[in-house]
Amino acid sequence: TELRLVAVRATRITPRLSLLVMRDITEHERVEQMRRDFVANTSHELKTPVGAVSLLAEAIDSAADDPDQVRVFAARLSAEAARLGQLSARIMDLSRLQSADQLLDQRAVSVDEIVASALEAHAIQADAGEVHVVRGGERGLHVQGDPQVLSDAVGNLLANAIAYSPRGASVGVGVKEVDGAVEIAVTDRGIGIAEADQERVFERFYRADQARSRRTGGTGLGLSIVKHAVQRHGGEVRLWSQPGNGSTFTIRLPLSGPPEELPASKRRKA
Ligand code: ADP
Repeated sequence: TELRLVAVRATRITPRLSLLVMRDITEHERVEQMRRDFVANTSHELKTPVGAVSLLAEAIDSAADDPDQVRVFAARLSAEAARLGQLSARIMDLSRLQSADQLLDQRAVSVDEIVASALEAHAIQADAGEVHVVRGGERGLHVQGDPQVLSDAVGNLLANAIAYSPRGASVGVGVKEVDGAVEIAVTDRGIGIAEADQERVFERFYRADQARSRRTGGTGLGLSIVKHAVQRHGGEVRLWSQPGNGSTFTIRLPLSGPPEELPASKRRKA
């Protein structure tokens, strides 16, 4: 990107010599634009569920004499409320990850634990979708970072792999060490992603197929959260996909040593 400089202060040193303090405003403008876009997108995305909630409340009111109808509308109201709750939690996750002054944990974390907690968090979803999740690859590796943020990132990939797979399919989560890095790959044999969408799926609120994604109840924020979480850990996310053949999302993180053992004396006290 080009550099745009503005003078923020001019100080005359001698009659013929002035000191000009310059600042690059491009970065500042870019961040400000991102913030404005985020607020605009978010308000737009919140309009639909908020509208649905108020329509359903009206519907319940006017069906007051019919208990069966009331029950149907109440169930839909509670589903919309849950969706709104999920959406706002994800918006907060993303905004936390995007602001550099929100510090993340920095400790040696076991990749086995990251993966196990992601698998556990999505066991019910996998059962409901009749998808079989297989954990493979190496054990005993560690990375540096925030265990919750990292297992949420793997969890988001897993949630998508399950959601976009047919019933009875298998999803794989593999771990391996490659050149001083750890790769966690989530592979599915589901619908896949068209080439034109492959870069865009990491954008906030982007859904490759609006109708289909809405049916799976997505927010369009999952992959954006994954990307920011991994970048905050000095890593990157890669995507390989073929429509009809499935997708593999790979999170690559710098390898770390295992956590330091506490001396036996301290361990007893802890
Ligand atoms: P969503 O909540 O809609 O799943 P994401 O940010 O997690 O939002 O993903 C963005 C879009 O990328 C999805 O709507 C879907 O179209 C596509 N996508 C993500 N993961 C997969 C996958 N494993 N297989 C097929 N399409 C996927």
